[in-house]
Amino acid sequence: MNEEATRLLTEGARATGVDAAPHLGAFADLLRLLQEGNARHNLTALKTEEDIVLKHFVDSLTCLRGGHLQGSLRVLDLGTGGGFPTFPLAIVQPELQITPVDATRKKIEYVRATAEALNLPQITPRSGRAEELGRDPELRGTFDRVVVRAVAALPILAELALPFLKSGGLLIAQKGPITPEELNAGRRAAREVGGAVREVDPFTLPVTGDDRTLIVIEKVAATPEKYPRAVGIPNSKPLF
Ligand code: SAM
Repeated sequence: MNEEATRLLTEGARATGVDAAPHLGAFADLLRLLQEGNARHNLTALKTEEDIVLKHFVDSLTCLRGGHLQGSLRVLDLGTGGGFPTFPLAIVQPELQITPVDATRKKIEYVRATAEALNLPQITPRSGRAEELGRDPELRGTFDRVVVRAVAALPILAELALPFLKSGGLLIAQKGPITPEELNAGRRAAREVGGAVREVDPFTLPVTGDDRTLIVIEKVAATPEKYPRAVGIPNSKPLF
């Protein structure tokens, strides 16, 4: 990793309360593997080391805001793509047990190989659609946290994520700026699937100043059996 990317990672991580110094080797390996994997799997549009460090690594670490990802929690990363936020979180919080999920098998194959190369056995990837995996008895109602970055609008995320959570578990959704309409629809959808919005935390990404919002939804009641609906329906007909 070049000197400027290293500086940006260190500075950006510090702004989220993370000391990146002990992890610079792991992040450098992740950067190299992502660039190599990108040639085959189209994992990211970002090309420069500085962009990848800020917009994937530091951006993923902002899921730690609010302190909801401490300890040996069972975490599902819904729509992980090239492994974000899974990899940055697993590097700095190795006690998290993370299951990254994605509908695209090739991406999950990359995530599995990269987890092995980085020696992160606590990452156990699964390929499949959240609509189907959320009905698997081995997964439904078994997670302490669901993290999600850049996958869908809040009402869709609520329907896809809440079925995975235990009672009292949290959905941590990292999004760009959110409109009052999306937030309102998200609140109503969350109620429908057994959740309640607990935190709405607008902030700016370190260094770039891009607007972000971290939304935390708590599972307060069992998700009705009819959710999630069949593949594609949560997106084509959002609850609200
Ligand atoms: N979270 C990653 C990130 O922040 O870089 C990837 C974001 S990418 C824009 C969205 C990913 O979500 C895609 O890889 C897509 O395959 C996955 N995805 C979308 N809907 C899904 C669903 N219903 N079940 C599983 N994966 C889904």
